[in-house]
Amino acid sequence: MMNTAPFNRTGRLSHWMDLATLVTAGAALLLAGTLLTIYQVVSLRSALVDDLRVQARIIGENSAAALVFNDPRAARETLSALEYSPSVQAAAIFSHDRSTLALYQAPDQMAPTMPDAALLRTGYQFSVAELLVAQPVKLAERQLGTVVLRISLEKLWWRVLGYIALTLAVAIGSLAISFVLVSRMRKVVRHTEAHLDYLAHSDSVTGLPNRHAFNARLAFALSKVDQFGGMVGLLFLDLDNFKAVNDTLGHQNGDRLLKLVAQRLVKILRTTDTICRIGGDEFAVILESASSSRESESVAAKLLAALNEPFVIDNIDLHVTASLGLSIYPIDTTDLQALTRNADTAMYQAKNRGKNAFERFHPDMEQRAKKRVQLENSMRRAMERNELRVFFQPQISIATRRIVAVEALLRWEHPELGLIQPVEFIPIAEESGLIVPLGKWVLEAACQQAARWAAEGMRELHMAVNLSVRQMREETMVDDILSILRDTGVSPGQLELEITETVLMENVDDNVRLLTRLKAAGVRIAVDDFGTGYSSMAYLKRFPIDQLKIDRAFITGLPGDAEDRAITTAIIAMAHSLGVMVVAEGVETAAQLAFLDENGCDRVQGYFLGAPLPGPHITALLRAQHENAAAKASIAEA
Ligand code: C2E
Ligand code: MG
Ligand code: MG
Repeated sequence: MMNTAPFNRTGRLSHWMDLATLVTAGAALLLAGTLLTIYQVVSLRSALVDDLRVQARIIGENSAAALVFNDPRAARETLSALEYSPSVQAAAIFSHDRSTLALYQAPDQMAPTMPDAALLRTGYQFSVAELLVAQPVKLAERQLGTVVLRISLEKLWWRVLGYIALTLAVAIGSLAISFVLVSRMRKVVRHTEAHLDYLAHSDSVTGLPNRHAFNARLAFALSKVDQFGGMVGLLFLDLDNFKAVNDTLGHQNGDRLLKLVAQRLVKILRTTDTICRIGGDEFAVILESASSSRESESVAAKLLAALNEPFVIDNIDLHVTASLGLSIYPIDTTDLQALTRNADTAMYQAKNRGKNAFERFHPDMEQRAKKRVQLENSMRRAMERNELRVFFQPQISIATRRIVAVEALLRWEHPELGLIQPVEFIPIAEESGLIVPLGKWVLEAACQQAARWAAEGMRELHMAVNLSVRQMREETMVDDILSILRDTGVSPGQLELEITETVLMENVDDNVRLLTRLKAAGVRIAVDDFGTGYSSMAYLKRFPIDQLKIDRAFITGLPGDAEDRAITTAIIAMAHSLGVMVVAEGVETAAQLAFLDENGCDRVQGYFLGAPLPGPHITALLRAQHENAAAKASIAEA
């Protein structure tokens, strides 16, 4: 799957560099060898000359008498000593009249002739094959004659040749050794480099290329399309609810699951396609084999289908789903950055559609995503600019027909867009994490309002506040809530926290622990949007719940719809059997209210009884109710 062409090229390059280094080192050695040889020749030669001059002088001095007396026999005897000097080939003693007094000659050697003026002046003369040394024989400053020695240079050349051979052998030997050592070292370095490269470009959990490698490969794939045509499909795949696996089974099992998922996904792809792990539970697939957008879409469908079968870890079946987004180069865009952004946008669209889904990028999505970003940015400023409001919706007790609680509901008074409803901004606030400070702000505002009402004598009124999943994950949440209660002086029993059934069931153990702590502090707990989250009785029993809020979806069909009737009555019966109060949400008609009343529902909330209103409006309602009650009480007393 990996393209190794650039690596081969660098391999060949380093080979050439090896060779170049070797040639340079060889040339340097050759130059050094030549200089040394020249030095050697010169010094051997001058040593030879010195040696022969000594010999010539000895002969000259020994033959002085023979020359004075013109005695060839004595002169020959002097020369006969040269037999023990194997380098001297021939020697002659000439008298001053240039006649030869004595001659010594090795077999086949030429006899020396009387030296010419030049030779007499320098005392020696070289040719390639031989050396002539001339030594005048004097007695009391009078020249009696001349001694001439002829020496073969064969031995000298052999020695020089031997020297050159030795130098060459040493040079070649050391070059060979260093070549072997250097290539061995290079091999080690290359190996280490390759390993480091692998580590830098691959993900240690799955063994897949990592984000770093992904960027490089995507750029490479796109440049190929630019050059040769074709298309590249980019798929972003994000596992749904992977965090839950990590939280419940531990990170080690989370890693094992990722590895299994990666292995299964790899099997679906062709060798020309590349799958990378680019984040915690995010994978990116570069589809180079697809020749049409339909083909890329079918790969996406196959990847999604591949996850259908559960994964088995420690004998537990894990059902994993994913959300996929696809963008195609150059159909959707001709820009690398935009391509990844598009795939990401499409993937988020799939997530928003309810997960376990695949979306092909569409320009509309970009518009929507842009709007989202804008909304997110202005939401950040909304708190500072005081654009947020808390509205309160009454909850009425069916038994007493009185307002017994209010639910705090967030509103955003946008200076240009007007009043924005929570459905539009709460999901964005959740995704961006802004819900954490936002939720805290709501809690503070709601408690401050509750404190004001308590100051007017309405201490029995419950204040319901919604909690988001992100808030629940905050470690400091319980402490934050308790300190807000302390600061505002609201009693914990007045506060009712609403948690949706889906959120409750996502992380049962942690939530049980969290709610138990809140419950211990005296805070009331309500399960919001109940009936949509498929929770079982067994689970519900584990939570310290005070109240269930039947989801609006089941109230809408009342009292006509048989199924809604059955569900509503079943929820009421079940809740009561657990000692939990029931609130019906979204009550819009008198008939709905009558049905709920007949079937024992405890409280009702809905437009029929009162829409969410700003604090002062509710204050007026509460005051009226309070005065009414006081009047009734005084009538009863009287
Ligand atoms: P929820 O907690 O289930 O709140 C009830 C929603 O039903 C409110 O919508 C309310 O205005 C609406 N409603 C009440 N009576 C009726 C009725 O008779 N008919 C119909 N059709 N709707 C009715 P709202 O205010 O738009 O809030 C929507 C959701 O946004 C809330 O659902 C809650 O989940 C979330 N939300 C609102 N404020 C906050 C907040 O401060 N924090 C958090 N985390 N979530 C909030
Ligand atoms: Mg609620
Ligand atoms: Mg609700």
